[in-house]
Amino acid sequence: MKEAQAYQKCINPRCGAEFDRMEILFECPRCGDLLDVCYRWDKLPVPKKLSDFSKKWADRQNPLNFSGVWRFGELLPFCEEKYRVTIGEGQTVLQPCCGLAAELGMRPNVLYLQYEGLNPSGSFKDNGMAAAYSHARMVGATASACASTGNTSASMALYSHSCGLKATVFIGEGKIAFGKLSQAMDYGAYTLQIAGDFDDCMRQVQEVCRQLKIYLVNSLNPFRLEGQKTIMYRILEQMGWEVPDWIVVPGGNLGNSSSFGKAFAELKELGLIERIPRLAVINASGADTLSELYNERGLRWNGGHVDQELIADYYSELDAKHYRPNTIASAIEISRPVNLKKCVRALDVCNGVVRTVSDEEILDAKAQIGKYGLGCEPASAATVAGLKHLLADGTIGRDERVVCVLTGHLLKDPNATVNYHSQMKRPFSNPPVQVPNDLEKIIALMKA
Ligand SMILES: *Cc1c(COP(=O)(O)O)cnc(C)c1O
Ligand SMILES: [Zn+2]
Repeated sequence: MKEAQAYQKCINPRCGAEFDRMEILFECPRCGDLLDVCYRWDKLPVPKKLSDFSKKWADRQNPLNFSGVWRFGELLPFCEEKYRVTIGEGQTVLQPCCGLAAELGMRPNVLYLQYEGLNPSGSFKDNGMAAAYSHARMVGATASACASTGNTSASMALYSHSCGLKATVFIGEGKIAFGKLSQAMDYGAYTLQIAGDFDDCMRQVQEVCRQLKIYLVNSLNPFRLEGQKTIMYRILEQMGWEVPDWIVVPGGNLGNSSSFGKAFAELKELGLIERIPRLAVINASGADTLSELYNERGLRWNGGHVDQELIADYYSELDAKHYRPNTIASAIEISRPVNLKKCVRALDVCNGVVRTVSDEEILDAKAQIGKYGLGCEPASAATVAGLKHLLADGTIGRDERVVCVLTGHLLKDPNATVNYHSQMKRPFSNPPVQVPNDLEKIIALMKA
C-alpha cells in the first residue's frame, strides 16, 4: 500500500486540511475539528461486490481472515497487514428475534439483534480497538490511554497487551459498572480515578495525551472508528448482503453512530450497496444532548456547516446549571459527546432520527431482550426501548426490517440486572422464589 492512499482529513469543509496517516492527531491541528480517515479508492483493490468477502471464511486459519474486522480489510485499508492487531474480535451474531418482535407488535422475521456482547472483552469497542492499536503499532506508539465509562477501558486493557503498549485508564468517580472495572483491573491497566465525571475525564485525558505524547484510543481517534464500521458489514453479511430498513443504536460519545454513517456512505460511493438504511440513535433521557440539539434546537449537518454557536450555547447552559448527566445506562452517561458533529453527519447520510428513553423503559426493554436469551447491559437495551417509541409514533412500520445493535454483554453490569429483577413491581421482573429446605414443599411449589 502506498502511503498516499490513506490519509486523515478534517471534517470541516471550510478547513478540509489533510494529514498523513502516520501522524498521531486527535483533532485537526488547524481548526480543532474532528478528523476522518479517507482513502483514494481508485488506487486501492476494492472488491467488486460485497459477497466477495464471504470467501475469506474459507481461509479462517489466518487470524486476519478470522477477525470480523480485518476480514473487511479492503474497506479500511489504512495499514499494512504486518501491523494489524487481532484477538478474534467481531465473531458476533445477528439474531432474528421473532418472540420479541411479536411482543412489540411487529411482523415475524423483521426484527434482528446484532449481539456485540460476544466480542473478546464483551462489547463492540473491540472492533474499534483492533483498528486503533493497529494504527498505534504502525506509528510506533509505546503507551496508550483513554477516558472511559467502562467498556473502552476493558477493551483497551485487553488490546494493549496484544501489542505491548502500556495502558492507562481515566475513570470518573461516579458510576462504573463492576463487570467493566474488574476487567480493567484484572487485565493490568493503570487506572486513574478522577474526582469528576466522564466528561471531565475526557477533557483531562486529551491534554495528558497531548503533553506526554501518549496514544489516545477514545473514539476521537479516527482510526478506531474505522474498525467499528465493520459492525455494519457483518450485519449486511448475515442478511445475505441485503440492506435492512433501520439500524438502531444507543448514543453515548456517538462514535458508533458516526462510524455506521461513514460505512454506509462509503459502500454507496463504491457502488457496493444501492440503498442506505435509516439510522435511529437513542439517548437516555438523563444524557440527552444529541436529542436536545437535534430535535429541539434543529442542529443539522448542513453540508458540513454545523452551527457551532448552537452547540456552544447549549454547553454553557449546561455549565450554568451545573448539569451532570444521570442514567442507569452508564455507557451512555455522557453530556458532551465528542463525535457530535460526525453523528449529525451520519444522521444526514442515513436520513436518521433521534429519540430519548427513560431509565425505566431501558430496564424493561433489557429484561424483555434477556427473556429471549440474548442478555445485554442497560445502554444496549436503549435500542429496543427506542424502537417501541418509533413503532408507536409510526416512524418505523411494523413490517420494516430493523436491526438493534446490542452493544455490550449482560454480565458487564450484573447489579442493574439483579436490582431490576428483585423488584416485584416491574413488568418483566423474574425474582427468585423463596421456599423452605423441604422436598415436599419444593415439589408442591413446582407442580403449582
Ligand atoms: C461505548 C458504549 C456505548 C456508546 O457508544 P458511543 O459510540 O460512545 O455512542 C453504548 N453501549 C455500550 C455497551 C458501550 O460500551
Ligand atoms: Zn480543520
